[in-house]
Amino acid sequence: MVRISFACGLMAACAQQHVGVSTDVTARAEPEAPMGRFTVRGRWENPRELTWQVVPQDGPIAPEILDRFVAEALDVWERTGVVAFRRVAEGQQPTFTISWHGADGSSASCRPFGRDNSVAHSGPLSDGTFIHLDESCDWSLGEGSGESLSRTLQHEVGHILGLDHCADESALMAPLTTASGPTESDLAGLHSLYGGLHGGPGDLLPVAVQQTGTEGPLPFPLRRVAPPGLTEWALFDTDGDGSHEVLVWRTDAKSLGALMIYHFNEEAQLERTVGPLLNVVPPEADTTFMLGVHGDRWIVTEFADGLLRLRSFDERGWPQRPTPQQHLGFEKERAQAIAAPSSGSRGPVAGEGDSLRGDLDGDGSEEFLMRFEEGS
Ligand SMILES: [Zn+2]
Ligand SMILES: [Zn+2]
Repeated sequence: MVRISFACGLMAACAQQHVGVSTDVTARAEPEAPMGRFTVRGRWENPRELTWQVVPQDGPIAPEILDRFVAEALDVWERTGVVAFRRVAEGQQPTFTISWHGADGSSASCRPFGRDNSVAHSGPLSDGTFIHLDESCDWSLGEGSGESLSRTLQHEVGHILGLDHCADESALMAPLTTASGPTESDLAGLHSLYGGLHGGPGDLLPVAVQQTGTEGPLPFPLRRVAPPGLTEWALFDTDGDGSHEVLVWRTDAKSLGALMIYHFNEEAQLERTVGPLLNVVPPEADTTFMLGVHGDRWIVTEFADGLLRLRSFDERGWPQRPTPQQHLGFEKERAQAIAAPSSGSRGPVAGEGDSLRGDLDGDGSEEFLMRFEEGS
């Protein structure tokens, strides 16, 4: 049986101790660091072969100026060394276009501007995707009033690269960002998708397991996602597809019970995140991830007064609404479930120490993950 428990007082003390010990940016940002450093919505197979075009059209900013701002925004991300962009001529099909859009909703694939406060948006991660800029926005080209064109483009390019919105308000990928360039949280996300970045506290590092003969590529490390002393982590097949996800949750009093779930594809690459999901793993309770007899997947939360709260995961790995808190004769059912996991679903794995074994890509052989504790 897997039981994951923690003492919130102890964790809070660890968290305080953690701050100030290191000059690493990640450590300095704790414990205010958010519920999940980053989220992702997809990945490119070849992130160094992304091509682009500015659609030639009249807009509120002269084409040559827009070109310059786009090139600068792309350059900011290229400097990470893991992605690269190439401009292609008219007539060629680029990976993505940049164009002005208005309030008339001329494209079926997006929302017209003017209905909410958004001034830009981007399309899904597939060839032919786009960045749309609101043609009636008051754009700022420098420090003046108005919406910063530079920051907006950098943020939208982050979406194009696969990053989704981030709960870290200081991040470039925060919905209402004020950042001037990608921050530690943004870079943690980008490098978790595409590799790179030096090791740091909170990395979850994949290591080959010789005994089980791991084949194929190892996943890229998840960068900075599980700061020691502030988080616990486990492997669990939340969507029942036969491969494990990595689950990370905050344990400190300010955590809001937030859970992050990292899904990998068949190539063992990070593909999507679920979360941060608030109030799912409350720090004052014991949480168990449990596989049921029918392949159903549960979060069992046991509070100090003996009350239980149950949540199931749906087929996409999203926790459903909790049952009312209750005293249940649940022990028997729980024991049965653990004893007879259905084939096809992967049971939970939680750590004794800080390394775990699981099957992230669903190929039947195991990957070995360990938490990086120290600064490099
Ligand atoms: Zn649009
Ligand atoms: Zn956005």
